Amino acid sequence: MELAARTGTTVELAAGDELVVRNTHGGQVVDTWALSAENPMRVLSAPHTWMRHGRLAIRVGDNLVDNTRRPMLSMIEDSSPGDHDMLIPSCDLARYRQLGVEGYHDNCHDNFFEALAAAGFEAPQFVPQPLNLFMRVPIAADGAISIDSPLALPGDHVRLVALEDVVVVLSACPQDLAPTNGVGRTPTGVTYEVTGPRA
Ligand SMILES: [Zn+2]
Repeated sequence: MELAARTGTTVELAAGDELVVRNTHGGQVVDTWALSAENPMRVLSAPHTWMRHGRLAIRVGDNLVDNTRRPMLSMIEDSSPGDHDMLIPSCDLARYRQLGVEGYHDNCHDNFFEALAAAGFEAPQFVPQPLNLFMRVPIAADGAISIDSPLALPGDHVRLVALEDVVVVLSACPQDLAPTNGVGRTPTGVTYEVTGPRA
């Protein structure tokens, strides 16, 4: 399936389903959320996941846990260099205002709500901290962070497996005023596919 540049979508996963997100063109960040299919207040939680693994980054084999510390997803493959930020909030209109945009600008915050509404899912009343697939945010020894151009190459992918029934939201980040999606500052689409449980 294609996820067009600057847009969002929902992906329903039953327990055992696998979701592959492929960085078709390379260098594109994909803001990713997961919500319980039964309770939209139970969401994939970055801080609870940091705590689970004792680090700010995730690696292949790690479970991604929700705000009740229950595992929701597991990352089982990653062909990219492994940068998947969990610190930077979604871009939103306020951020684009800070960057000088006066009119509307596509943003991951709105993509989150619009994707859930379009699919008829109840949304939480806030945008959870996303898992920013392929986003490169180096953390210096003094704690300083920066947003660098992603290292993911065309065709790089991650594979997540659902550990329960979840609604995943994906947003192909439309940031074109910072190197979030590469030095060319040209957001692109990505592709994704869902496969059933492995035999
Ligand atoms: Zn964004």
